[in-house]
This record gives sequence, C-alpha cells and structure tokens, in this order.
Amino acid sequence: MCGVFGIFGHEEAAHLTYLGLHALQHRGQESAGITTSDGLKLKTYRAMGLVADVFTEPILNDLPGKSAIGHVRYSTAGGSHVRNAQPYQVSFGGGQLAVAHNGNFVNADDARKELEEAGAIFQSDSDTENVIHYIARSRAGVFEARVVDALRRLDGAYSMVFLTEKKLVAVRDPAAFRPLVLGRLKNAYVIASETTALDLIEAELLREIEPGELVVIDEDGLKSSFPFEKREQKRCVFEYVYFARPDSKLFGDSVFSVRKRLGQQLAREQPVNADVVIAVPDSGVPAAMGYAQESGLPYDIGLIRSHYVGRTFIEPQQSIRHFGVKLKLAPVRSTLEGKRVVVVDDSIVRGTTSRKIVKMLQSAGAKEVHLRISSPPTAWPCFYGIDTPSRQELIAASHSTDEIARYVTADSLGYLTLEGLMRAAGDASGKTFCSACFSGKYPTGLPGVSPSGRG
Ligand code: AMP
Repeated sequence: MCGVFGIFGHEEAAHLTYLGLHALQHRGQESAGITTSDGLKLKTYRAMGLVADVFTEPILNDLPGKSAIGHVRYSTAGGSHVRNAQPYQVSFGGGQLAVAHNGNFVNADDARKELEEAGAIFQSDSDTENVIHYIARSRAGVFEARVVDALRRLDGAYSMVFLTEKKLVAVRDPAAFRPLVLGRLKNAYVIASETTALDLIEAELLREIEPGELVVIDEDGLKSSFPFEKREQKRCVFEYVYFARPDSKLFGDSVFSVRKRLGQQLAREQPVNADVVIAVPDSGVPAAMGYAQESGLPYDIGLIRSHYVGRTFIEPQQSIRHFGVKLKLAPVRSTLEGKRVVVVDDSIVRGTTSRKIVKMLQSAGAKEVHLRISSPPTAWPCFYGIDTPSRQELIAASHSTDEIARYVTADSLGYLTLEGLMRAAGDASGKTFCSACFSGKYPTGLPGVSPSGRG
C-alpha cells in the first residue's frame, strides 16, 4: 500500500509533488518523502507521518529543481521505520538515483540473500532496495538499461518511478498489478499512482502507463518501450473494492461507478427484507448506494465518521467498550431506531471492526442488522502490495459465513460472489484481474513463502 508521484519539467516540482502526494495520502499514511533534481544533483526529504505534517514551506523551498518524485508509504514489506521511508536516494557508479515503489517483489528475500552474499550492504529492510543494488551492479550503459537489468531479476508487483540528475523513469510490471498513469501539465510530464493526483494539480490525463511499459522522460521528451517478457494482465481487483479513491479513474473505469455496480450486484445476489440501507463510511458508501438503488430500499445515513482520528490515540483501558471504533464512527439513532437495517461495507478482514459496528447499530436501536459485503470473503493474504494480515488472522480463512455472522452478531451476513465481483469490475472472465486475496490463486510463484501465510 503505497502511492508514487513524479514530475519532469516544472518550476514548482517540489510543491506539485507535495500536492500530488496529498491526493494519494489514502494509499499510505506512515511516511512521506520527496526527491528533487536541479539537473546536477538530487536532494531528498523524507520522514514519518502524513504529507501535511512532514512537509513545511521552508522544507519544500529547500528542495530545488524542475523534476521530482515522491512517495507515501504504508509498510507491506519492511517495518515501520524512517529508514524504510521512500524515496531512497543513493550515489552509484553511474551518478545519483532515487526510487519510489508501489508494490511488492515476491522473490525479494532470495534476491537480498544473493546480493548480501555478493557483498551488498543494505540500508533498509524494504524489498525495494534490491532494485538499487541490481542497478549499481548492472554493466549496462544508460540508466534505463540498468533499470531493465535490475527488474528482470525481480518478480512481482511494481509501479515505480526513478529520478536521476537528468531523467525521470517510470515503469509498470507486465501483469500491471498496481495502477500508474501519465499526465501532462503545460510542458511538464506527470506520473501518478492514481488520476486523483493529476486532477488536484490540474494536469491532463494522457493515458495509463501500459503493462510492462518503461517510460523515460528527459530534456528530449518522452520515450516509451516494452523491454519485459509479456504476460497476462493481473490488475488488482481490491483496488476497485477498497483501496483506490472513488474519484479516480482506474484500469479504464471510474472507481465510484465500479463500487456502485458492486453494490447493485450484491443486492441481486443477497437481497433481504429491510427498511433502510446504510453504509460503513467512507469505504462502504458507493456500494451501499448501489445496493439501495437496485433493491429499491431507501438509502440513509446511519453512521457518521470522524475525520479527526489520528493514527495513535490514548485509549481508556477498560471503562468504555468498543472505544476505538466509537472514536471513528457514531450511530445516527433517528435513522436506526426500530428499523431493519442493511449495513454495507467493502470487506471483512479480521472481523473485529464489523463486530463492533453491528453491536453499535444494535445499541442505537436497530431492530435487525443485516451485514452485506461488496466483495467475497477475504481468505488469503496479498503478496503484491496490499497490507493484509497473515492467513491465521483472516477470519474467513477458518470460518464459514454462518460462523462469521454469529461472531459479528448480525441477523444475517451476505458476501458478493467472485463471479459477481468480476462482472461488476468489467471482466466477467476474471482473467485480467488478480483476485488472490479471495481465491488463493496467486498469479506468480511465491518463493520462500509457505502456502499457509506470509513469510
Ligand atoms: P476488520 O475489523 O479487520 O474486519 O476490518 C474491516 C474493515 O477494514 C473494513 O471496513 C475495510 O474497509 C477495512 N479494510 C479492508 N482492507 C484493509 C486493509 N488492507 N487495510 C486497512 N483497512 C482495510
């Protein structure tokens, strides 16, 4: 779970990257960083925290140059520590480089072992650092050829941006697990994980970076090539379900529209006699609207979300039950009292939040609570860049839907089928999507990983 951004050829490169990262904040809240180039040297600032907290006006003014890359991170590989914050900036035989990565290399552990045995000294515990070592060791001439050399040794998900003194390079893996788009702002080129970042800085969306495409941007303009072996597309369907921002256009479709279609399909598959449909905000809202539309039931606001909850908060130990979720969500009694309520959320991971939400709705007077989930049971961990717990912690890995319904104390529980998800996502065959978190069918080998869970 990360967001990347890059810009080449703009006077305000650092400030625009800051804004781009702000729009991508939902993709990672742990750390943020920006590297700029003034044409002669690179400069990086990165720290733990949210974009708006990490960067101040003086810090941005101190990042000179017309090109920049940026990153927001939520750790999927490597711990939560500033040494793992990106971009990574290094000097090597070919000059200076910085890199920002969204995704996960599945053979990172083996690669690291091989590199360490050959003498490499790692500065972080992140899988991304492997790329830097391979680039440094490559015998290829130009920088982008070194990037290709490096990435040919690694397998998995990567939407990445690189910055050197003179070039911005963007690359997307051949399966295209994670999104990456190309935009234009006057004479500058812009790269971003999601279109919402282009919209904020008023850049025009040109197109997606294609599966397996390498784009090099320098003073001479933009050059595109496809240096990797072709493979079937495996776009992450969970980006549609939960991860991407609903105002983004992703894999050629509007995320909001897809989510609404998921809700409509869910209503067809899992109908229920009820009085009102409500969402778990924010992630459940579009699907709940779709559910209401399809079922003919009224949509209403039954939960209010606080937007001021930080990452850490001192909680009373025992005295207030379900305190964590109460900070984030509050029930609207007038919507719920005496009603048979359909509550729509996008997914159940451990089941702990859902249980608290159902109990909260019951305490606020709901007569019945019917939980509807706009994706299939999440039963398998992701190895391609979404932060999911180990298989042992995923409630659907070891419990039936009836058992989960009893655990969360709902009157009924209904999930969307995998077929329904694929149809609503726009590929009924399901072939072009990765849905491993639901099906357990991983589209790459997983070296060094036990089939029962992560690591
Ligand atoms: P849980 O209580 O563990 O079942 O959490 C379910 C909630 O977590 C749902 O409301 C989802 O929107 C949200 N969710 C799903 N996947 C993730 C993820 N990878 N990281 C953070 N939250 C998630």
